[in-house]
Amino acid sequence: MDPVLLESTLAGLGQPAFRARQVWEWAARGARTYEEMSNVPAALRGELAAAVPFSSLELVREAHASDGTVKALFTTHDGRAVEAVLMRYRDGRNSLCLSSQSGCPLTCTFCATGAMKFTRNLTAGEILDQALHFRRDHEVDHVVFMGMGEPMMNLPNVLDTCRRLPSIGVTHRRTAISTVGWIPGIETLTHATMPIRLALSLHAADDRLRSQIMPVNDRYPLSEVLAACERFYAIKRRQVFVEYVMLGDVNDGAAHARQLAGVLDPKVYKVNLIPYNPTGMYDGSPRATIERFRAVLEEHGIRATVRLTMGRDIDAACGQLAARAAVGAS
Ligand code: SAH
Repeated sequence: MDPVLLESTLAGLGQPAFRARQVWEWAARGARTYEEMSNVPAALRGELAAAVPFSSLELVREAHASDGTVKALFTTHDGRAVEAVLMRYRDGRNSLCLSSQSGCPLTCTFCATGAMKFTRNLTAGEILDQALHFRRDHEVDHVVFMGMGEPMMNLPNVLDTCRRLPSIGVTHRRTAISTVGWIPGIETLTHATMPIRLALSLHAADDRLRSQIMPVNDRYPLSEVLAACERFYAIKRRQVFVEYVMLGDVNDGAAHARQLAGVLDPKVYKVNLIPYNPTGMYDGSPRATIERFRAVLEEHGIRATVRLTMGRDIDAACGQLAARAAVGAS
C-alpha cells in the first residue's frame, strides 16, 4: 500500500487526518483487505479499494525452503521484477531481506542481480509492500536492505520506507542498509536522525582486486569508503558490519585475511564472512578455508562470524530467483 497515495486520497475525500494513520495501521499489522478494517466506515472502505491498490506488487511465485526461508518474486504494475526474502532463525528472529531497485546498475561480478538489466528505483510503497506481504503471515522484527539493487542509489525512498518500518514491527536499530560503499549515501545516513545500521560489502582489502570484483571501486576507492564508514562510527557510535563473500582462490587466502585485518579498525568493524552462493563465474570457498580466514581475523583482534546460509534449495541469493524466472521465460 502506497502511504502517500493513501494520504492524498483520503485528503481528497475530505477525511480527517487520523484516517490515513488508522488505515495504515491495519495494513502494517497484516490486514489482507480493506474489508477487515472494522473501524473504517464501510462506504469509505469501498472508495479506498477503488482508489488505492491494496498492494502495488503482484506475487508471481513464492518458494519455501526446508529451513523455513521464504522467497517471493513479484512484479510491479509496469512489469518490473522484485524479490524479497523472509529468513526465520532458530532463535525466533524473523528477518526480511528487501529490494530497493529492480535489477542493479552496478556490475559486481559475483552477483546475479548485477548481471540483470537495471530497470528502475522502487518507490517507498513498492518496498513497503514487500514487507507487508510477509507481515500477513508472520511477525517480523529485522530488516536488511540486501535484496536487489544498491539502496544508497535510492536513498530517499529507502529512508521513507525506514520511517514506516516501526509500525510493521521493525525498529530503526534493527534495520540495516547494505552498500557497495556509495559514499554520498553513507554520508547521508551518518547525519540521518534514525539510528539505522550500516553494512559495507567489502569483499577485498586492496584496490586492484576489489576493482576487479566490484567495478564501483574505481569510483569510490577503498580508503575513501573506509574513511566514510569511520565517520559514520564516530558520529553514530554503532559498529559497521563488513560483508565479505568468500570466493574460492580469489579473495580467501590467509594473506587476504591479514590484509583485511590490516585495513579494519576493530573498534569500528565487525566482519561477516558470507559463503558464496554460486551463480556462475566463481566457486565458493571450502568450509575449512572460510574457518581459517575467520581464525586469522580473530588472531588480529577483528570479530568475525560466518553467515548462516539459508534457503539454498530455493535460489535465495540476491537476484537468483528473478534471473531464473527470466531464463524460464525466454
Ligand atoms: N548493493 C548492496 C545490497 C545488495 S547485495 C550491497 O552490495 O551491499 C547484499 C549482499 O549480498 C552483498 O554483500 C553482496 O555482496 C552479497 N551477494 C550478492 N550475490 C551473492 C552470492 N551469489 N552469494 C553470496 N552473497 C552474495
